[in-house]
Amino acid sequence: MDVLKTIQSLREELNFHNHQYYVLDAPTISDFEFDLKLKQLQDLESQHPEYFDENSPTQRVGGAITKNFQTVQHEYRMYSLDNSYSKDDLKDWEARIQKVLGNVDLAYTCELKYDGASISITYENGKLKRAVTRGDGFQGDDVTTNIKTIKSVPLKLKGDDFPEKFDIRGEIILPLSGFEKMNQELIEIGETPYSNPRNTASGSLKLQDSAEVAKRPLDCLLYFLIGNNLPFNTQFDGLSHARSWGFKVPQQTKLAQNLEDVFAFIDYWDVHRHDLPYETDGVVIKVNSFQHQDELGYTAKSPRWAIAYKFKSEQVSTRINSIDYQVGRTGSITPVANLEPVQLAGTIVKRASLHNADQIEKLDIRLGDVVYVEKGGEIIPKIIGVDLFQRNSEASPIHYITHCPECMTELIRHEGEANHYCPNYYGCPPQIIGRVQHYITRKAMDIEGLGGETVALLYQNGLVHSYADLYDLKVEQLLPLDRMAQKSAENLVNGVQKSKEVPFDRVLYALGIRYVGETVAKKLAKHYKNIEALSKASLTDLILVDEIGEKIAQSVLEFFENNDNKLLINRLKNYGVQLELIEIFNPNATDKLVGKTFVVSGVFSIFSRDELKKSIEDNGGKVGSSISAKTDYVIAGDNMGPAKLEKANQLNIPIITEQEYQNMIDEN
Ligand code: AMP
Ligand code: ZN
Repeated sequence: MDVLKTIQSLREELNFHNHQYYVLDAPTISDFEFDLKLKQLQDLESQHPEYFDENSPTQRVGGAITKNFQTVQHEYRMYSLDNSYSKDDLKDWEARIQKVLGNVDLAYTCELKYDGASISITYENGKLKRAVTRGDGFQGDDVTTNIKTIKSVPLKLKGDDFPEKFDIRGEIILPLSGFEKMNQELIEIGETPYSNPRNTASGSLKLQDSAEVAKRPLDCLLYFLIGNNLPFNTQFDGLSHARSWGFKVPQQTKLAQNLEDVFAFIDYWDVHRHDLPYETDGVVIKVNSFQHQDELGYTAKSPRWAIAYKFKSEQVSTRINSIDYQVGRTGSITPVANLEPVQLAGTIVKRASLHNADQIEKLDIRLGDVVYVEKGGEIIPKIIGVDLFQRNSEASPIHYITHCPECMTELIRHEGEANHYCPNYYGCPPQIIGRVQHYITRKAMDIEGLGGETVALLYQNGLVHSYADLYDLKVEQLLPLDRMAQKSAENLVNGVQKSKEVPFDRVLYALGIRYVGETVAKKLAKHYKNIEALSKASLTDLILVDEIGEKIAQSVLEFFENNDNKLLINRLKNYGVQLELIEIFNPNATDKLVGKTFVVSGVFSIFSRDELKKSIEDNGGKVGSSISAKTDYVIAGDNMGPAKLEKANQLNIPIITEQEYQNMIDEN
């Protein structure tokens, strides 16, 4: 049948392009073309649920929710690695091996030690069967649905020389750029950023909502194959084979003919690892020959044929000159140390975050102290300790500020929170400016002709105190400002006026309510339809909304209880900003089909397929993608798939024609 062929060829094509893009980093079509093909496949699959395939590229978007991850026994145990910290350690290791093997020539595979969460993935007949976390090495959690959303993990292998069944091991990592982007988004909504990529990667594997995992820019780097009848005899060959089957095996991997080569590899990567797009914390050295590996075997915890060499995390010492306290958009205070500039891991470091008051107290940092600075898991260097021998006897402990450095208001610290806050929501300049800056960003009101610096300028000149003030701006008021020509002033005013067309969900995000990010704003907008209703919602009511927890609900409540906010929102309303969802009025809508689920199959003549589905939804019904016990009716056109027909009969589900459907909605 033609449809099946089209589906299969689209799957092949999409698999090919995924591999080009995510594994080889060499895309051959545009994202747009890719999305078109994916959409086409999604449509075909939903029209033909009989051709469902759990390994179709459409399954990568996720959606399945796992409440409890199944515990699964590893067929082959996942061992740890012994660590070494010096070249002498490695020489000792080789000597121990030579003692067992009897002075043979030894080649080694050198790999980087990727810093993430380990995973074991089973393939059967070229298809991804199951992915399990390391757990305790004997058994781990089945996280298959989450792993499938990672685009560089092949769902179906290339070539034909893979064994019928094998496990492949690797590391799930979060590249630095993706990590920074995720954190940027958290900071935007006033949330605490993640502390490092490794924990974030490993936390991602255990998220219940696989669609959430699909959104995270995770990657999977593979380093080890295990199984019967592997068509190669060495670790290095194994990696090449894995690559040819479509796995992402980093190209840095090298075959070393002796320990000298291994040392050269270590020396090179000790410096150049900082150029990689992801974090590594060492090198893993593996005896190359499987025969040698077999002879060497395992200790209780780790293979004797492999060892990790740990990089020293780079540290320098330098002096703390002063501490700045930065006030964020939400009023949160971050202490930042100003350091005597110093070279560290390829960059000059002048500042380091001190996180919060507890951290300063814990490290007992004093002004003028010589401190150790490290660039480890985090991107921003951190202070890890004080060189007490160099402490000036007069240095006194730091007294954390009690008042906001910007507006002098007394700081508060909520129970259980690490950070201090400036509560002067309406009078604290960085908070005022930050809120307006957030309001105009692309994902919020996307105001053309207005940037963050201009916002600060407008504030300093007394023109803007809140986002509502933007709507009163006149060209004449702007002209006296620095570098503000007639044209740019007009653009700014026009841009502001145009933002009145921005839909309610984005306006809601733009308001800058703490913890209300883009997604939450969408959910709230959809649920409450207008700001009136949202502002009247109670805590219990808010919590009932999908994905809204107590923290968010509390914050929404506080926002709307505030009188200044009420006034602001009134002003926005008067200016004509969208404070309700505009729903296109549909004269055909009824609730005749509420509670009924339909599956549509075949070719129709009264309706097109899409019209039919839309009609079901307009009348309150649901469209299911496959027949199950929950299906109430199957609407069959010509050429209904035989598998579907059988399934419907089996479950005793009424099969109706489109005419019968039409009659159903025409009835009174
Ligand atoms: P450890 O957790 O210190 O016992 O180190 C062992 C872990 O290193 C393994 O479980 C893997 O998750 C991880 N690892 C990272 N890169 C590699 C690699 N190239 N080969 C083997 N293990 C690796
Ligand atoms: Zn303040």
